[in-house]
Amino acid sequence: MIIDFHTHLFPPEIIKHREEYLSRDHWFKLLYGRPKPRMATAEQLIASMDEAGIDASVAFGFSWRDMSLCRLGNDYVLEAARRYPGRILPFAVINPAAGDEALAEAERCVEQGALGLGELISDGQGFSLRDDTMTPLVEWAAKHRLPILLHTSEPVGHQYNGKGDTTPDIVYRFAERYPETTLVLAHWGGGLPFYELMPEVRRVLAQVYYDTAASLYLYHDTIFSMLAPLIGDKIVFGTDFPLISQKRFLSRVRRLGLPSEDLAKILGDNAIRLLRLET
Ligand SMILES: [Zn+2]
Repeated sequence: MIIDFHTHLFPPEIIKHREEYLSRDHWFKLLYGRPKPRMATAEQLIASMDEAGIDASVAFGFSWRDMSLCRLGNDYVLEAARRYPGRILPFAVINPAAGDEALAEAERCVEQGALGLGELISDGQGFSLRDDTMTPLVEWAAKHRLPILLHTSEPVGHQYNGKGDTTPDIVYRFAERYPETTLVLAHWGGGLPFYELMPEVRRVLAQVYYDTAASLYLYHDTIFSMLAPLIGDKIVFGTDFPLISQKRFLSRVRRLGLPSEDLAKILGDNAIRLLRLET
């Protein structure tokens, strides 16, 4: 089973009125202010999955600051998951800065089938991973065994729209404070996996997974074969569709010559275990 752990969906009305939403969210304007970055509906995601040979995709809306926009996106993703059961695996976006309202929305979405929270973007949504903002959500997620997917980025290298400053040191300390919660760190955790060579770091990060979203824009492909022996049980294939073509990324990964056992884990088995999809 092939699973893409990182895809973004937009309701058709937001795609149609893209311009109007630019003034409503600073981060949205940063990422979608130019016409080139694509936005996709559930139908486009399913067509892409069919073309690429992907069985299921974890999907989430945009990481808005405004909770009413988060709800709009969540409703769309949840409804898409009902239309494409087993193929669209819905996650819920909330803004932790909204406090009780965020927790209530998380609960509402999980009741309707959400399998986790994310992608949460502290830089874009204006909350901090260094204070207690996330505590109620993180404890709630641990209790319900739900993963939280966080955007992370590299402290070095080229700048890009949406990069932000959620770097390995910040997410490491965050993971250390909440050892009971399963975290999925997007974009290879901003390079955090390399520190898993340190035994104490490895212990702290026992519940941490990494997705590969946007890797083609960030890292040399060798990252897969370098990290598979170290954290092969914790890597989940994610594209960042529609930013990156699922077909292109999947065929690139398949051509890397990874041992078939590692490839199976990265492309699906780890995600199945993480999302407890077996039963
Ligand atoms: Zn991201």
